[in-house]
This record gives sequence, C-alpha cells and structure tokens, in this order.
Amino acid sequence: MTFEQLGLSTGLLRAVADQGYDSPTPIQQQAIPVILQGQDLLASAQTGTGKTAGFTLPLLHRLSTQPGNGKRAPRALILTPTRELAVQVSESVKTYGKYLPLKTAVVYGGVKIGPQFKQLRQGVDILIATPGRLLDHVNQRTVDLSCVEILVLDECDRMLDMGFIHDIRKIMGRLPESRQTLMFSATFSRPIQQLASTLLNAPAQIEVAPRNTTAERVEQVVHPVDRHRKRELLSHMIGFHGWEQVLVFTRTKHGANRLAEQLAKDGLKTAAIHGNKTQAARAKALKDFKQGRVRVLVATDVASRGIDIDQLPYVVNFELPNVAEDYVHRIGRTGRAGHEGRAVSLISDDELHLLSRIERLLQQRLERDIVPGYEPSFSMRAPAAAKPAAPRRRSNSRPGRSKPQPAAIRG
Ligand code: AMP
Repeated sequence: MTFEQLGLSTGLLRAVADQGYDSPTPIQQQAIPVILQGQDLLASAQTGTGKTAGFTLPLLHRLSTQPGNGKRAPRALILTPTRELAVQVSESVKTYGKYLPLKTAVVYGGVKIGPQFKQLRQGVDILIATPGRLLDHVNQRTVDLSCVEILVLDECDRMLDMGFIHDIRKIMGRLPESRQTLMFSATFSRPIQQLASTLLNAPAQIEVAPRNTTAERVEQVVHPVDRHRKRELLSHMIGFHGWEQVLVFTRTKHGANRLAEQLAKDGLKTAAIHGNKTQAARAKALKDFKQGRVRVLVATDVASRGIDIDQLPYVVNFELPNVAEDYVHRIGRTGRAGHEGRAVSLISDDELHLLSRIERLLQQRLERDIVPGYEPSFSMRAPAAAKPAAPRRRSNSRPGRSKPQPAAIRG
C-alpha cells in the first residue's frame, strides 16, 4: 500500500515524501482510512509504530479540506501526558503540515504561561497540550475549546497512570458533544476500556502490536552486582563495549543527578533529565544526546516518556523501576522500528523482588550474566515466579584482565 492510495491531499503527500517514508506503517494503513471517514477510534499502538503520523496526517487532511467556522479557536486538540511528548507531537504536526496553511500551538506546564496566552490569542487551528496546563488556560479563559472538531488522546494509559483522569474529564466538559475522538494507548487495559466507553461513539478498534511485544524485540540481560559497584560497572561497560548512545534510567531525580556527575568524572559526556530540570534544560540535553554531543543520558521514568530517538541502541536500568510496567516502557526506547536493541539491567540484592515482578509481567525469565570482576556478594536466588537456574559465569564483557580495572573511557 502507498500513501497515495490512502487518499491524502497533495500537500501531505509531499511532506511525507520529504520525510523519505516509502509506505505507510501498519497502524497508519489501518487508522488513516477510519479517521478520514470521521469515525471515532480506539487504537492500541506503542511508540515506534508510526502512530503519530497515523493520527496527524488524516487530522491535517480533514482540517485542511473542510472549512472551519471562521473563529480563531482550536479545531483540533491533542492531549499528551508529558511536555516532551507534546513538543514531539507538535514537531510532527509542523513537519507533516508544512505545506498547509494551518496554525499549531503547544502548551505545557513548567514554563511561563504569558507567552502561551499571546500565542493562543493570535489564533490556533491545532492545539497540543498537557492536561494540567490546558486546564489552567481553560480556567483563565485564555482558550476556547468550543470549536474542537477532533480530539486526540495520545498515550492514554500514561495519562491515566499519571493521574490525569480528573483533568481529562474536566476538559471533556468544555468540548462540543459532536466531535471526532481518537484514543491511542499502548494497552487496552480495563481503565482504558472504561474511559473509551464514556468518551467514544461507536469507535473502530485497531490493535497493531499485542502488549509487550517490544520486550520480544529487545535483547535483555541482567547483571547482578553490588549496589556500591554499579556506577563503576556501568562506566566499564560503556567504555569496554564502546557504547556511543546510552539511555540510563534511575529511580529518583537525585539519583539521576548524582550518577550523571559521577559518570562525568569518569570522563563520559553525560546529561541528566528529570522533572526538576527546566524545560529548556531538558530540551537541550535531549538535543545534545540526539546529536551525539552527549554520550550518556540519565533519565527518570517520568522525564523519559515520549523520548523519541530512532534506533536507540542501548538502554540501561541502573535501578529497576518500582512498577513493572515501567520496565517495558523503558526498554521500549530501544529496538524500534525493527532494529535490534539491547536492554541491560544492573541489579543489586534489594531489587530481586522487582526483577521477579518484571519477569512475571513479561512471562519470561531474563538472562543473568555476572560480569567477571564485578561478582556480587549476594547469591542470585531465583525469584519465586521464575524457574531456578544457576547464574552464568561466562560473560561477553570479560575485560581480558585478571584483576578488574576500569576500562579506558573514550570521551
Ligand atoms: P511514532 O510511533 O509516532 O513515535 O513514530 C516513530 C518513528 O517512525 C518516527 O521517527 C517517525 O518519523 C517514523 N515514521 C513514521 N511513519 C513512518 C513511515 N511510514 N515510514 C518510515 N518511518 C516512519
């Protein structure tokens, strides 16, 4: 199938061709015709499937081929759980809509609200927003949602996880009853289905990737190691394997900062992103990482949502997340679009119960690999959910020395 066959307008086809896309991805093939027809949609698709273009292209097509009512209020509203995702979606909207005369604005918290007032006053066709900041605007009457024709809820499951359900419901109360609503979610969990049943009208349902398939595409390994030696092991692995672009997860903001400082002392160009950083600092860190000026990006779970870096080769769990589903989201940052990715978890004895939860969720036992020179002082007893197996002594990470030494780090 081609993009032409989907019936998209010439301006959109040109923009798609500029991006170098040959053919629509499976989610695009299924979602675009449904959205073009004006039907509501409940789609299960993870990041990396091309879902953003899947809703953005038909949304732009509809807005540009149907006249608005002449008001300057938004005709399409796209809600995202995080600022990073809001920015990325707005970039996609601008990229795909570059030959169309439609105005886009993005509003999210953590930055001054004043410039956003100004932008909204100037008139907007497509508004991308995080729920909290949008409600601030609604309450201050700086945005009028009464003209919204198309509503998109992106990464709906994350919005629910992050407690946005009340904000979403309040926002719904401001939207016209007759509108097209599109819900995208990585999973069709019960809360998602409940929300869908109240928001959607006779929706089409699309499921392109069954839950957790990311985990199957990504090569995963667990390195048991004492907590106080994790940083040293991480530096060693980055240097030894010559990893050039590594996303590292910590559980806390403080932990992210501390690790970034320590890795920088090891000579690795490192940046940290988390909720305490300003939006500008987060955007800069992400850009430096994407462009190769930063080799290691240390992130917390919330800050990492929506990070879109094509073919990110390595993800390291410096600490396992408390919530097993977050593990799947974390490793979903690697191995995208058919490329092989590798997810490495450094686990200490206080995290064995978390490992057990993750393995239960994945219904898969993760390979244990003790790195010579970094043998843990605890024994890797098999967690309850998984079958026992002796930890393997063999490692690909063998430094080739009898005594462990930090590997030479290339800056
Ligand atoms: P998403 O799932 O929306 O985060 O998109 C993941 C990546 O796939 C983005 O970097 C897009 O630029 C890319 N992409 C989207 N549609 C296509 C396509 N039809 N062909 C190739 N790449 C695509």
